[in-house]
Amino acid sequence: MGVRVGMLIDTHCHLHFDAFDADREAVIARAREFGVRYMVCVGTDPVTNEQAYRLSRAHDFIFHTAGLHPHHSHEVPMEGIRKFVGETKPRAIGEIGLDYFKSEADPAAQKKAFAGMLRLALERDLPVIVHSRNAFEDTLALLRSEGGGRLRAVMHCFSYDAGALKKLLDSGFLVSFTCNLTFKNAGSLLDVAASAPLDRLMLETDSPYLAPQVYRGRRNEPACLVHLSEFLAKKKGIGEETLRKATSENAVRFFGLPASGG
Ligand SMILES: [Zn+2]
Ligand SMILES: [Zn+2]
Repeated sequence: MGVRVGMLIDTHCHLHFDAFDADREAVIARAREFGVRYMVCVGTDPVTNEQAYRLSRAHDFIFHTAGLHPHHSHEVPMEGIRKFVGETKPRAIGEIGLDYFKSEADPAAQKKAFAGMLRLALERDLPVIVHSRNAFEDTLALLRSEGGGRLRAVMHCFSYDAGALKKLLDSGFLVSFTCNLTFKNAGSLLDVAASAPLDRLMLETDSPYLAPQVYRGRRNEPACLVHLSEFLAKKKGIGEETLRKATSENAVRFFGLPASGG
């Protein structure tokens, strides 16, 4: 056993997805062995919201969210989600957002669903996890107009340029990056990530997606957060301990997680 360095928090994973049905408990145990103290399981629709909730009930270091991914925004089951949030007390609303790259739902429907979920977050005083692809300006505009300066938001799996990051940070929001930073073709995204200030930055795997370069093409899992943390600390030119401490403190504050224990 090496020296135990500071804790890691996977702020965005989908451990409740069926990609983990065969060995979910082994995956969770491995994450803990590698120092991942907490995992935030992110819901994407009413079914996966419920699955994430059930998993959070089984482990006191796993937390759930309530989301409506842009891929599902043609459905807009707002009343059901509002009831679910009231009953299960998620740590965040998300993932929600706009995806003009992959989503089949039209932009108007996506915006309507996103705005509705942002209002729900404000109503409940919950932070939001934002998914945004090929839609930065529209995403930021809605975060600003619906948020009215009161909204706490993180843009997850950030994929835009340095100018966009500056606008996001200037609006008071946070950013999180995934293991795709370790890809050989990460290119300028790596410089953008390296420039993100420590007090606004969180780490995530987005498991089962985006396994790090060493496992490229395979299933990702929360234990792989160690690869991202080591890689990004090196790129930022800081100690890994410093990166772990800052990103974990941000996550504890953002999601209201227990400061000690777990
Ligand atoms: Zn996403
Ligand atoms: Zn996700």
